Amino acid sequence: MKGVVPAYTVNKASTLPSLEVLHARLGHTSLSKMKYISACKNVLPNSFSCDTCILAKAHRLQFERSTITTKAPFELVHMDLWGPYKVANLNGARFFCYSYR
Ligand SMILES: [Zn+2]
Repeated sequence: MKGVVPAYTVNKASTLPSLEVLHARLGHTSLSKMKYISACKNVLPNSFSCDTCILAKAHRLQFERSTITTKAPFELVHMDLWGPYKVANLNGARFFCYSYR
């Protein structure tokens, strides 16, 4: 089977990915959670800064207080509108809305 590499082949010369790569591959998990992963245990620093995590945790300013009053459910609905998507759905729609409970 010349030229076929078995799926279980491990490159023993490779080193562990950097802390930044491990952190990203683990979904930007915290250091306190990464310490439970054996590959990370011995390489964790006391503190670590990730630009993606900092930007993801940034908050926008809150909306101004609304003066709209309603008397029945669904008279006022908050939602996000998203689109146009490059591919239309089966009904031809290219915009989607998300509503919040
Ligand atoms: Zn991160």
